Amino acid sequence: MSGEAASAIGERAGAAREQPPASMRALMLVADRKIELRDIAAPPAPGAGEVQIRIKAIGLNHIDVWGWRGMAFAKRTLPLIVGVEAAGEISAVGPDVTSRRVGDRVVAYGALTCGVCKACRESRDNLCENVASIMGFHVDGFGRDLVNMPARLVVPIPAGVSYRDAACAPVAFGTVQHMLFDNARLEPGETILVQAGGSGIGTTAIKMAKAIGCTVITTVGDDAKAEKAKAIGADHVINYRNERFEGVVRKLTGKMGVDVAFEHVGPDTFNGSLLCLKRGGRLVTCGSTSGQSITMNLFQLYLQQYRIFGSFGCSIRNIGESLAKMASGLLPVIDTEVTLADFERGLARLESRQVFGKIIVMF
Ligand SMILES: [Zn+2]
Repeated sequence: MSGEAASAIGERAGAAREQPPASMRALMLVADRKIELRDIAAPPAPGAGEVQIRIKAIGLNHIDVWGWRGMAFAKRTLPLIVGVEAAGEISAVGPDVTSRRVGDRVVAYGALTCGVCKACRESRDNLCENVASIMGFHVDGFGRDLVNMPARLVVPIPAGVSYRDAACAPVAFGTVQHMLFDNARLEPGETILVQAGGSGIGTTAIKMAKAIGCTVITTVGDDAKAEKAKAIGADHVINYRNERFEGVVRKLTGKMGVDVAFEHVGPDTFNGSLLCLKRGGRLVTCGSTSGQSITMNLFQLYLQQYRIFGSFGCSIRNIGESLAKMASGLLPVIDTEVTLADFERGLARLESRQVFGKIIVMF
């Protein structure tokens, strides 16, 4: 590097530290279904143990839709900065932080865990006994130019992975990694049923299961999505509007059933997913977009020796594993990129289920 170039970089870095912006853009949820792009005060310089991140991209998830619609049970106050998963660049570090440097590309773990309880110490972060809040849902999230975070909650992005793709690691990829490999213990050669294969986590599950050599059966709601699901590796695609998926899975598996069912739809599909399992099969669920409650046949549960896993979020380790998969070429399926001002339009698209893959908000 020439002396001039080095000096220019030094000046830029110096300028960034000496003149933090007074204000920044922030996407504020001000009422149910009402998000506004506002100018608010920029955060102070990061304190002890903190880094400041300049946000570059945000991934949208169903939890954003829940938050946008309004959740009676969620303790939170409005206005609230939205955005639950993001990627960005470290713009400043706290005085004692040596693990991260200005310019590092990172993603952030958006659950404010305590870092000291037994679960945290054992790297089971999503089982933290004192988890304070989920950023972007209970407390201010990542939909802003700058955010201060505990340095222990950021994970470096490997070379070659874009901010757009990395923004899918903390929630979408991390959740699926945790569901398939920590909870359901999916093994190469097994057969898996992925419900709602066109969704952000559905597309991720298809790709992660195919990558280890599983047979993937998935459900979608229209023929265009069926073609796309095949294109990303699904072996069999069932349009649930035309056929009963339980019957098709039974035929496809020679009446055996699948080893693992990947659920996040809820009442519309849950009992059907159980019926698709072979004896001793595993069902893992991370969501319930079609409602909250079901009636379950308990005779079937114990006679068939089903194992059911509730899964929420992931550990910080799962985010690193997800980014490593991206670096090796297993990239998220992107439906749409929208601008910050179109965040709400992105949520409406997600809510309408007219998506195939992830919606990303680019800064
Ligand atoms: Zn903890």
